[in-house]
Amino acid sequence: MNKFIFVTGGVCSSLGKGVAASSLGALLEGRGFNVRMVKCDPYINVDAGTMSPYQHGEVYVTDDGGETDLDLGNYARFTSGPLSRANSITTGQVYETVIRKEREGRYLGRCVQVIPHITDEIKNRILAVSKEDADTDVVIVEIGGTVGDIESIPFLEAARQLIHELGRENVLSAHLTLIPEVGEGELKTKPTQHSVKAMQEQGIQPDVLICRAPVMLEEATRRKIALFTNVESEAVFTSYNVDTTIYEVPLVFFDQKLDQVVLKKLGVESRHANLKPWYSMMERFNSLSGKVRIGIVGKYMDLHDSYKSVFEALFHAGLENRVEVELVKIDSSRLEETEDADAVLGASAADGGVDGILVPGGFGQRGINGMVKASAWARKNKLPYFGICLGMQIMVIDWARNVLGWEDADSTEFNQDTKHPVVSLLEDQVDVKNYGGTMRLGKWISLAEPNSLFFAAYKEKTVSERHRHRYEFANTFRKEMTDAGLQLTGFTEDKSLVEAVEWSDHPWGLGVQFHPEFKSKPTAASPLFRDFIAAVKKTKGN
Ligand code: GLN
Repeated sequence: MNKFIFVTGGVCSSLGKGVAASSLGALLEGRGFNVRMVKCDPYINVDAGTMSPYQHGEVYVTDDGGETDLDLGNYARFTSGPLSRANSITTGQVYETVIRKEREGRYLGRCVQVIPHITDEIKNRILAVSKEDADTDVVIVEIGGTVGDIESIPFLEAARQLIHELGRENVLSAHLTLIPEVGEGELKTKPTQHSVKAMQEQGIQPDVLICRAPVMLEEATRRKIALFTNVESEAVFTSYNVDTTIYEVPLVFFDQKLDQVVLKKLGVESRHANLKPWYSMMERFNSLSGKVRIGIVGKYMDLHDSYKSVFEALFHAGLENRVEVELVKIDSSRLEETEDADAVLGASAADGGVDGILVPGGFGQRGINGMVKASAWARKNKLPYFGICLGMQIMVIDWARNVLGWEDADSTEFNQDTKHPVVSLLEDQVDVKNYGGTMRLGKWISLAEPNSLFFAAYKEKTVSERHRHRYEFANTFRKEMTDAGLQLTGFTEDKSLVEAVEWSDHPWGLGVQFHPEFKSKPTAASPLFRDFIAAVKKTKGN
């Protein structure tokens, strides 16, 4: 069975379209259907790899090394279908393919146009995802942007064509809108009416409306919306503001029978729903006790989305350890400026200090010395420290500078001329001008050494996680670093690259060269995040 659901948004952005699409995916999976998620992004960038995390949030990395929009992270947290670069479609990719084909003369002299050539390419890419696996039942396609935007028109047109070609029993349109509150508790449906009109102008009659509203809509309001929009009132749902966690949204929709209405409209016989993992997750959420404060020392702190998967993974780990995780976002340049790390991180800090430190991934020099200070501080004060990618490299630099006493030790990313390049490019990378091509990206196997924190977390020697970096632990310094006590506890399969480093004689100090946050789920936290928070909880003594 191959069914398609297009999720579009109206009125304004940031209504939680990604969460709505993912939640629907979670519900259909809960009923035993095989779901694939696709994001269409109207921007011209070919992928998110070149986008600044300051502006666009994190780059989500897939197993095959795709550098994709962070919405794929939502899909990964809510659903379990495989995600690869094929699940992220951008205007840039579509035009790139069409223009390349035009140059190769594959359009046989015809005039190449938005319709049909661009729209055909969009449809082909969506259909390709549905065919990747013969077992796929439903493909949920989220179209980025807001209806009415110039950029998203070709994607909406492709959706319209697919509805027309495959029939309304096979392709469903779910439209997300806003019901704002005006004055005292007065809910306004007019923006929704206009938003549906905008969809109709594109030739798409939404089958389902998901209305973002402060509270659950009353029956009368739903009937009014139905009357004005041609959507049945039983297909008007409320995505009300949950004051618990976004991970409750699947259950909010389940209670309103969103999945049943969707399946009925698609002519699919409903199956038994098993949402046990979601209910137990909420049980854990409702039984959190105590709090740990995690200092995240990084450079893109102004935009929450820059470290989205890291923050989510910390939350998941809190659920598993039944403890609230408070995020204390520390701009590393703040630490760089001060002589006294204690005033920022310790009990003497204005906000009472942190119970554990996490240094996440990042690129570029700004704030690096502040991160090194954070690492040294956690090491000396025996506070749990978790270094991810750049955060592991920071541990290595700290060790070289502050334990071995090599004051100039650095990564060649930050200082080309250091005599102690403890983190550097591999030799065969050095001359490559096109840096984009030299990145270690996507899934790699790491082997965990026995008796390590790394092994203890996964309870397995062979670990598969995703990478996104250029620089590596420099092998020339392996001996001196380990002789001084740094433990190397993870390697690539051929042992040529270091994947994990640890502090001994410390409650929990671990750095990994990969990004475990990408595989963490609310229903199953990443093992490393889980153990990090467990260690923080233990050292804190609660
Ligand atoms: N800038 C570092 C590198 O390229 C770390 C990258 C990261 O943290 N993702 O190796």
